[in-house]
Order: sequence, then structure tokens, then C-alpha cells
Amino acid sequence: MSATILQPGQIEAPAGSIPFLRLPERDEIFRERAARLRQLAPGHALQDFLLFMAAIADAQQAALMAFSSVPLPDEIRLALCREHGMPPLSAQGWQRDPAWHNALRKIAAQVKENATPASREALSRLEAMDGAALEKLADAVLSGQYSGADLAALPFIAAALQVYWTHMTTTLGAKAFDRIAVAQVCPACAAPPSVSVVHIGSSEGLRYLNCALCGTQWHMVRIKCSNCESTKDIGYDMIEGASGAVKAETCDACASYLKIMYMDKDHQVDPVADDLATLTLDLMMDEQGKLRSGPNLFLITDSDTPTP
Ligand code: FE
Ligand code: FE
Repeated sequence: MSATILQPGQIEAPAGSIPFLRLPERDEIFRERAARLRQLAPGHALQDFLLFMAAIADAQQAALMAFSSVPLPDEIRLALCREHGMPPLSAQGWQRDPAWHNALRKIAAQVKENATPASREALSRLEAMDGAALEKLADAVLSGQYSGADLAALPFIAAALQVYWTHMTTTLGAKAFDRIAVAQVCPACAAPPSVSVVHIGSSEGLRYLNCALCGTQWHMVRIKCSNCESTKDIGYDMIEGASGAVKAETCDACASYLKIMYMDKDHQVDPVADDLATLTLDLMMDEQGKLRSGPNLFLITDSDTPTP
């Protein structure tokens, strides 16, 4: 039997067969994030912060592996959502199971030792809170309405909610979800994208938006604003002297930007780790008067951001 050598054009996905969704790998998502953060940290201006975020990612992976079974939408509900283009695990509409409080307590216990005094105080406040107070903070994270909330505590709430939503989406699997009516938000949970990623391998050159909450990625064509869907006046900015693996995709029509990461420039880019390690790019965009269109839930500041 003679072997056939495939030429590059033959191994590209034919039109129509592009996988719309990429769910995170449950066994690896946070572990790989921690490894990437540790790779980016040495010599970085934010070294200590990145290393602490690595400790949080490790704790998230442990909490995900130990997550108890929780109520999920049944097949009838999922089919109805697919039929009507609705997200079945809507960040703002889904009735949260208190199991995520356990994930929070596990994460808090695991990272406390390495936390700064301010974070340690925030963790102590969280440990003393009852379920109702935790749910109120979760509402703040998921609605993007942070005014008056305990800002130092919110990243830990976000970490636990990411684990809970990642648990739900990876338990249901990609077949549970389909395109929804709005292309700019996650088809599983309706949260906005934190960044987008251009892939390599079997998805070579395809761009996926990365959900800030559940880590699901969904396809969107390139050179298109992920906020207003304009295809005109899209620009790409990067930090001078950087590798070009992370750029800001800017849109003049809505004066916004979202970071875009290129795996062909660095195949280890991680949507959260590389976002945190390129805050200089956010400052540069701020100077240009461009607003970031999707949140990084670990960088919650006093002003309200786009709603997950
Ligand atoms: Fe999502
Ligand atoms: Fe736009």
C-alpha cells in the first residue's frame, strides 16, 4: 500500500466543517495556566503577582478535580436552548448551586499562605461570610456591577465561579451547546470574551473568542470587531519589542479593543496568563482612549466593566 502525502491545503478544514466550539480540557485548563504563569513570571515587573495567580490556578485545578456533582440542565432544556439560540448556563440567570462555596473555601485555604497581607485579610473576610453574603459577591462579579463591593475579595469569588462553570460545561460536553442569537457572548454561559486566540494544528489560523467565565471558546472570523461586529477600521497594536504573540485588536467604530493571542507566535499562550502578563498593552490602549470590551475577572477595579 502506497502512502499518500498530504499537502498543506488538503489538511485545512473544508468550509462548513470548522468546529464552532472548543471546550476547555478539564484535566489541564488551570494546571496549564499555572505553568504558563510560572514561565512568564521570572524577571517580569509583576513577578510576585503572576506567581500568586499561579498558586490560585493550581488551587482552581484541585477544586475542579474535587467538584461534587451539581444540578445541570436536562436534555429537554438543552434541546430547547439549542433550538432557540439561548445559553443554557447563563451567568446571570442560572440558579447557582452552593457547591461553589466549597470550591471557594478550598481555594482560599490553599492560597492563603502565599497571599499578601491585603489578600490574606480579604480571604479571612470571605471565610467569615455566610452563603448569602457570598452569593451577593457572586452577583457583583457576574453582573459587572462592582461599586461598593469588597474589591480585594472579588478575584477569589471569580476563581471559584470559574471552577463551577468550567465544571458544568465540561460535564455537559460540547454537544450540549450550539450557536446562540448573540455572536459576541459565550454560547454556554453568555459571559463576554476575555480575549481571543488564533489557533494552530487542526484549527490552524482560526480565531476563537475565550469566555471569561467558563473557558469555552467559540469561533469568530478574523479581522472583525468582537464587540460591534464591524469589519471596517480594525487595527492591531502591540507593545514595542514584544514577540507579537499578544496584540490588541482595536475597532474605531465602537472605540474598543480586545487582546488577540497568536499560537503560531508562541504555542503556549494562555488566555488568562498572557492577558495578566501584558497589562502594559491595556495601559497603552487606555492612553489611546479605547475601552476594553471584555473583562479579565482577576483585574476587577472600582469601575464597572462589561457585563459577563
Ligand atoms: Fe462561558
Ligand atoms: Fe467595534
